[in-house]
Amino acid sequence: MSTPSLHLENVTLNIYTTTKLRGCNPSFVTTSDGVVSIDTPQLPTRAVAMRAAAESHGPIRYLINTEHHVDHIFGNYWFKGVPVVNHQGLYDNFMDPNAALDPFAYALEAIPTDDPEAAPLIPDRDVYYQDPNKGTIVFTGDLTLRVGDHTFHLLHTPGHTPGQLAVHVPEERAVFTGDTIFSECQTWLMTSNVDQWIEALERIRQLDVDHVIPGHGPVQSIAYVDTQRSVLFQWKAAVAEAVAKGWTREETIARVRFDDAFGPVDVGQGYMMDHIQNNNAGSLWDKLTALGYAKGR
Ligand SMILES: [Zn+2]
Repeated sequence: MSTPSLHLENVTLNIYTTTKLRGCNPSFVTTSDGVVSIDTPQLPTRAVAMRAAAESHGPIRYLINTEHHVDHIFGNYWFKGVPVVNHQGLYDNFMDPNAALDPFAYALEAIPTDDPEAAPLIPDRDVYYQDPNKGTIVFTGDLTLRVGDHTFHLLHTPGHTPGQLAVHVPEERAVFTGDTIFSECQTWLMTSNVDQWIEALERIRQLDVDHVIPGHGPVQSIAYVDTQRSVLFQWKAAVAEAVAKGWTREETIARVRFDDAFGPVDVGQGYMMDHIQNNNAGSLWDKLTALGYAKGR
């Protein structure tokens, strides 16, 4: 098997990320005492290659996942032996077979088109679930890891998901936000609490950083926090207005769409545009009506 390209880019001297693979933006940070990985490639051959790339700089001391969505954790399977650090809220949802979007099946959807050489690497479902390599260091609140001359502040920033983390590395003036930021691509809202998410963005805004490595799309400066906030406010306002007009769930899904306004779907997932639009609108409608916004009229 040939070594697949990862399209790695150096954000700083010590930060490596890739924003061009199907799945999230997996990354690693090199230190004076080994490497810290942040999220794993969803595509198995890229997970294997990413591990090798990281280990070429020294042993991987920790693998931190920023959220439980499959595109951030499926590749953990190919990082066995590395200590995995998960927030409790992430751990509790890790590859949950009862999720609305079956994570194992969704990961496999990508294989024929995006990673055909991975077929021999993929275990049967029951073998996978015996040990998908979830966290062994599991915490609530925030956690600080010190590795060599680097500090990793794991900040609990729920909103996009309950166990969401941002990883702040002050020595690199950088933060890895996971999907608290979707950069120049469509935002997935369905497992989210938008009000918490806006609070999470405010927490990230307080950091003294130059580099924002998002969950998806190109690296940004801290100013992009305002763009992401605007996307969240526009979605919420549009669905709140639909509820106020008495639109049904179906009418809201049909009429409230942001296909063109917020950019394409991230790499390889263009076919999910309707899924994103429908479920963003539908899940927000459910939450806003449950709160009673439409009652008492
Ligand atoms: Zn996500």
